[in-house]
Amino acid sequence: MTAYDDLMAHARQTEALSQISGRLGWDQQTMMPRGSNAQRSEEMAALEDVLHARRTDPRLGELLDRAEATDDVAAANLRELRRDYARNTRVPARLASELARLTPLAQAAWEEARLADDVASFLPWLEKMIALRREEGQAIAAGGDPYDALMADYEPETDSETVAATFDRMRPRLVALREAVLGADSPPALTGHFPQDGQLRVSRRLAEHFGYDFTRGRIDLAVHPFSSGSGTDVRITTRVAIEEPFNCLYSTIHEVGHAAYEQGVGAEHLLTPIGRGVSMGVHESQSRIYENQIGRSRAFTGWLHGAMVQEFGALSVADAESFYAAVNRVTTGYIRTEADEIQYNLHIMLRFDLERDLMRGKLDAADLEEAWNTRFMSDFGYPVDRPSHGVLQDVHWSVGLFGYFPTYALGNVYAGCLYQSLRADHPDLDAQLAQGDTSAATGWLREKLQRFGALRAPRDTIAHACGFTPDEGPLMDYLEAKFRALYRL
Ligand code: ZN
Repeated sequence: MTAYDDLMAHARQTEALSQISGRLGWDQQTMMPRGSNAQRSEEMAALEDVLHARRTDPRLGELLDRAEATDDVAAANLRELRRDYARNTRVPARLASELARLTPLAQAAWEEARLADDVASFLPWLEKMIALRREEGQAIAAGGDPYDALMADYEPETDSETVAATFDRMRPRLVALREAVLGADSPPALTGHFPQDGQLRVSRRLAEHFGYDFTRGRIDLAVHPFSSGSGTDVRITTRVAIEEPFNCLYSTIHEVGHAAYEQGVGAEHLLTPIGRGVSMGVHESQSRIYENQIGRSRAFTGWLHGAMVQEFGALSVADAESFYAAVNRVTTGYIRTEADEIQYNLHIMLRFDLERDLMRGKLDAADLEEAWNTRFMSDFGYPVDRPSHGVLQDVHWSVGLFGYFPTYALGNVYAGCLYQSLRADHPDLDAQLAQGDTSAATGWLREKLQRFGALRAPRDTIAHACGFTPDEGPLMDYLEAKFRALYRL
């Protein structure tokens, strides 16, 4: 056995335990009886202790010093292991345990504060969370930038200066497009009553049409849609709002995109460090291209329109073209998760700038609400009417997720690049999508990207798949072309 073999045997077992932990989390949000919460917390904490001990085991450090890569796969596995080990051993045990204890309490305080529209009651928790995560970022960064260090947990090998420059180029084009679209005539929304059974049947058909493998996955209901697992057990959830069927259908397609990445990783990488999506941004590129560039395209919504009429009878929108307009309708609004393809990115940029200032000590919790409201006014043109529509709307900061938000917009940028190359390779794509056939598109993504897992760093993963260095150009061109045509601008 070489040092590398020892490391991989250790890593495989750690990953298996981590998958068990993930499945307990899935169970908690789908199947678990309500009265089981306390016991489940203890079960998960016990597993977390075992995982933490394995991930910071000094024997790993010694093996990592000696291990040598003999090929690309081994080099990539070592890259992942070395980064994780360095990160985990830089965080003092006292800090890790303080964060673990604070997180559920801060989240509970946020939930109450949001319901009551009461920022003041959440501030002490937020202050504490910001202080701990600043400290953690500084520990991981070891002299570097604390925000970049935290962002690397979700998007490794990408620095926030590059992200900020990308966002700065996107913002004026997005703001201009948003204003033009909102100044034009708005198409009618889809209205009506869409029973749960019917929505779930159409969801299941959509998952099948997007290549989701039900022999290695399943769909259940949860409050917030998510996907979890890797390899041969990748599960997704969706939710149903009776009067808003697009919520359920597009959440399903989105999660199928995440699941496709995990299901698509080559079987030879199962339970190894590279046997999973390489970053949250690349992950989001898969969910977004499934949901938006493919799922909300004129061609595919033509097929979906037929499937909806078949399930629900005549719809409030007359034909496939008005159905397409209803799917892509742009309206004013405060909420990130309800935003359309244009405004979604503006919501992310606002959060990115604020959280970067928070982690760098340039902004404090006490001034956050005012900073949010000022920035929202300048990007969206109308004032925030209440905190639950503003600074209290997202769970992320309450659970210490600083550095996560930019990965959503990076996913959109990457999806734009991938879609441009996909279309160049498949000029006849629309004819297939119009039949509900996504196999050329999803097959292309599997072949070019998904099967490699984390073999390459995030930006290299996208560059390898699309054949050029990723930037925001293709996304912005796609958005302008799509919405200018749709709104006859
Ligand atoms: Zn997602």
